[in-house]
Amino acid sequence: MTSTAIAVRTIGHWVDGAEHVPEGTRTSPVYNPATGQVTGHLALADEALIEQAIASAQRGFEEWSGYSIAKRQTVLFAFRELLNARKGELAALITAEHGKVISDAMGEILRGQEVVELACGFPHLIKGAFSENASTGVDVYSLTQPLGVVGIISPFNFPAMVPMWFFPIAIAVGNAVVLKPSEKDPSAALWMAELWQEAGLPDGVFTVLQGDKLAVDGLLNDPRVQSISFVGSTPIAQYIYQEASRNGKRVQALGGAKNHMLVLPDADLDLVADQAVNAGYGAAGERCMAISVVLAVEPVADELIDRIAERIGRLRIGDGAGADGVEPDMGPLITDAHRDKVASYVDIAEADGARIVVDGRGVQVDGCESGFFFGPTLIDDLPLHSRAYTEEIFGPVLQIVRIGSYQEGVELINSGRFGNGTAIFTNDGGAARRFQHEVQVGMIGINVPIPVPVAYHSFGGWKQSLFGDAKAYGVHGFEFFTREKAVTARWIDPARRGGSEHSGIDL
Ligand code: NAD
Repeated sequence: MTSTAIAVRTIGHWVDGAEHVPEGTRTSPVYNPATGQVTGHLALADEALIEQAIASAQRGFEEWSGYSIAKRQTVLFAFRELLNARKGELAALITAEHGKVISDAMGEILRGQEVVELACGFPHLIKGAFSENASTGVDVYSLTQPLGVVGIISPFNFPAMVPMWFFPIAIAVGNAVVLKPSEKDPSAALWMAELWQEAGLPDGVFTVLQGDKLAVDGLLNDPRVQSISFVGSTPIAQYIYQEASRNGKRVQALGGAKNHMLVLPDADLDLVADQAVNAGYGAAGERCMAISVVLAVEPVADELIDRIAERIGRLRIGDGAGADGVEPDMGPLITDAHRDKVASYVDIAEADGARIVVDGRGVQVDGCESGFFFGPTLIDDLPLHSRAYTEEIFGPVLQIVRIGSYQEGVELINSGRFGNGTAIFTNDGGAARRFQHEVQVGMIGINVPIPVPVAYHSFGGWKQSLFGDAKAYGVHGFEFFTREKAVTARWIDPARRGGSEHSGIDL
């Protein structure tokens, strides 16, 4: 081994309470995006492994669903304590495979932990209802039960938080989970599997099935898998929704986004510039709630562009793990192919006549020359027919669109095919109130650029940002992962029964 060589390990699956590294299967490379080096080879599931994983989960479900509420709650609390105590380890793993800066990795874990904490209170959220004497001598009551084996398919951009949008609730209410993480950053899922085991979860209740389309289709087609929770790009979300529905499963499928920030002329432009930079370039723009378009109601556009450009000049780009104790503001993109795709959108914008105010193409980071870096990019005068405007770029590219009125802004937002998140910046409460009523988007920020709802509300967009009718977490999450039974019962009062049926009650 030379001094620059690094250990490359094979990354396996988590089945039956242990990491399982099968021999001779297909693999896919896992990179450290900051250095461009391969750090692992991910074992991709074949048919045999898919069968093994689902069968193990089915056994896990049969055991776990028999646990009392109190016992399940003990395991949930233990998982929460372990996660809270050891989240630094998980953040380092996320940064090593995703590239985001450590503080951002910690942020995603905290947002996931919120859902774990919500799930700890599950008994209150799934308890049934009782109506005494609905008819004379007849009671009607409802009870909730888990679904069985549930599938979760997650994207690369939040390898811990997105699975945690679903699995704490799914497990708390008695299901067994098969998680199919992104093949680009698969290690966080294995780490969380080990943590569940330490927390006392029986084997088979949390399974990690690593893989690509074959593994996804395996989950979609297996009748033992009762539901699918998917987060990823819109074309795949639509495919998942159609296939899972065709196979009679419950499905929630969250897709892509193109989020607009509407800036009214009365807004505080320093606040807007700060928030646009955070929401546009944080996590290198690889967030489904990132802001990618700023709709500036004139006359503020020139002033806003100056303030944003000035802030971009101060952003530090580098290895998300930091060097010499200093953390950069922005890490690399996930792969070189994705970096090239983002660059191609800036080429398209330029060819369509846009002005590239700040150009992140070809940026180099000292000491990380082979990393997948792309600098913050600011685009002005982008024609609205350009594919750079109509499509999701998923990189650190912020576009300014100059408009004449509030109404023009709302019409533009509503004409888009996505409806994930949006924000308005203004000091006029009446305008903000009208915006929240008129805009066709699932999550809205008022002077808040990334309005990800807290765990006890629910996360989900409209239009092509969400297929199905169930959002992630909150009350929607509990409803998605349980099914209700309604019981209508008649018990005859002892006073009205014959002597032979005497129950010993003194009449
Ligand atoms: P992706 O759609 O490429 O992959 C998501 C998952 O689907 C992965 O597990 C992947 O292995 C699997 N997959 C990919 N191609 C498949 C195929 N042909 N058949 C079956 N399965 C397939 O998404 P990504 O690049 O990992 O993530 C980025 C996307 O996710 C962006 O579009 C982003 O907006 C979106 N996203 C949305 C939300 C939301 O809440 N709406 C949150 C995070 C990310």
